[in-house]
Amino acid sequence: MKHRIQLLPEKLCNQIAAGEVVERPSSVVKELVENSLDAGATEVRVEVEKGGRSLIRIVDNGCGMGREDAFLSLERHATSKIRTDEDLFAIRTLGFRGEALPSIAAVSRLTLRTREKGSLEGVEIYLEGGTVRRADAIGMPCGTTIEVRNLFFNLPARRKFLRREETELGHIGDVVTKMALARPDVQFKLSHNGRSLLDVYRHDSLRERTLALLGRTLASDLVVVERGEGDLKVTGLVSQPSSTRSTTSAMFSFVNGRYVRDRVIQHAILDGYRNLLFKGRYPVVVLFIELDPQLVDVNVHPTKHEVRFREQSLVHDFIAGSVRDALRPAAWLKDEAPPGPHQDASAPRAEVPRSMSAPWSPMSLPSVPPPAPRFEAREAADPFGSPSAPPLSLPEQKVSSETSAGFFSSLTLIGQFGQSYLLCQDGEDLLLIDQHAAHERIGFERLKEQLRRGNIERQALLFPDVLEFDFRQAAQVQEHVNDLYRLGFEVEPFGGNSFVLKAVPQLLHKADPVALLRDVAGELAQIGQSGKLEEALDQVLILMACHTMVRANQKLSLLQMQALLNEMDTVDFKGHCPHGRPVMQRLSRGEIEKMFKRT
Ligand code: ADP
Ligand code: MG
Repeated sequence: MKHRIQLLPEKLCNQIAAGEVVERPSSVVKELVENSLDAGATEVRVEVEKGGRSLIRIVDNGCGMGREDAFLSLERHATSKIRTDEDLFAIRTLGFRGEALPSIAAVSRLTLRTREKGSLEGVEIYLEGGTVRRADAIGMPCGTTIEVRNLFFNLPARRKFLRREETELGHIGDVVTKMALARPDVQFKLSHNGRSLLDVYRHDSLRERTLALLGRTLASDLVVVERGEGDLKVTGLVSQPSSTRSTTSAMFSFVNGRYVRDRVIQHAILDGYRNLLFKGRYPVVVLFIELDPQLVDVNVHPTKHEVRFREQSLVHDFIAGSVRDALRPAAWLKDEAPPGPHQDASAPRAEVPRSMSAPWSPMSLPSVPPPAPRFEAREAADPFGSPSAPPLSLPEQKVSSETSAGFFSSLTLIGQFGQSYLLCQDGEDLLLIDQHAAHERIGFERLKEQLRRGNIERQALLFPDVLEFDFRQAAQVQEHVNDLYRLGFEVEPFGGNSFVLKAVPQLLHKADPVALLRDVAGELAQIGQSGKLEEALDQVLILMACHTMVRANQKLSLLQMQALLNEMDTVDFKGHCPHGRPVMQRLSRGEIEKMFKRT
């Protein structure tokens, strides 16, 4: 009896493999450019016509191939990059599966031209649907050129799936952008129908490459990330929280030089930005994660866009921490870093980690500020004199001196505008500081710090309040009595749906306790559902900070303003309030002079 099961012919195997590897023209570009980079090219030219449908040509100046290798490269599972199974777990090249060339050849009309260094002539091989039709010796410079014509000419179903020219071109542009970000040392060119779309030189700085590819308006918004510990290293550039996009499309991450789009990494980066971004806004990120290849599996997916880390949470926290550290001192430095001893005006600033160049960096200040005395109750004389009793009082007389070296405290205070903004002078610039946003950030960071150390500091109420809740709220409060205690509220059941409130967070002792407790209990009730305790607690703290803080429309004395500025120097992430709104805006003298037509 004849066997029912048969081995598939090679050609069919290649077509099936092509189904995975070659989804559309941009996948061809990706595979071929990766090959060029693996071949050590320092120049890669990508020329496409009709969105890649009619022609994709990749020209490189890499090592090229000898005649035999050129033929072998078109065979399935033929690769120069790995030899043993151990190699598979120590991959340093972009390719290793030996599938790309035969797969692409199987679904197009492909011409391979290549000349190895040291060899007198090159070879040209022409294939149709994977079958070699011609091979000739040719004269050419060292390197490799691959032309892919009529993609999917033999797979009409596939060809039908191709989108409009511009769409396919867009995907190709994305691919080239990713490669070019990954390799600032390599020159890339991209042209479409003879028109040059992209031409980046052999730069050596990531910053220059990033600006060339993602836009020069980012120039003043990029912050350097740099952190290494043992085998694990994270480097790159991230945008300040004020410079965001509405999608994640400008978040580029690379693992050991390979672009990956990985959920863990993306989550980690956004974790680094926690409480610094508006909802639905995403930063610009070019981040390189480097680790022992043994600790990451890139062989998860044929296009290798996903990876699997052996120690996922360790990598996650490391990335999040690196991003957060980079933003810590930088988030409030808008255009220019204030002058400091290490500043060299001619050097591109962001190449120096801010944490090193800025002696006033908050990291060098005690991260746990001396808490109590500055928030002493001032029952008698309400310094704000407003009927809507502001919850937090600022000291009139006591201007703390321990932070006077800070950026904010050393600003020249001009006054208050619209009972909402502090006007300050910083060198030649005019600064506007949103008092409410600033204060919210201070309150948030203080509460967070206290919570981190254990419990939020409480203040006992002289006259405990009896609070009535409705049935549902009472259940929420009851359920979270312990969490509430950590957050600074001491509540005890008082029969029925009532509770006695005996203490409130010290920072909030002037807020309306009922409204506050209701809000907090409501937030806490959601924690149970989401399970993400830390994130949810942050939400609670934001809410609490909102309750404590100096409102807009509140007249402040000069001393109160100065105290606010001094406070600012003792907290991190002062560039934005915990909702992500900016705290500070800067108007340069030049901009002001332009308003008056003086330039
Ligand atoms: P892989 O990249 O996984 O090894 P490919 O099918 O993409 O598999 O390529 C097969 C082999 O052909 C590579 O291992 C490499 O030796 C050779 N090759 C492909 N493209 C080039 C190039 N542009 N320059 C030099 N060698 C190349
Ligand atoms: Mg390859």
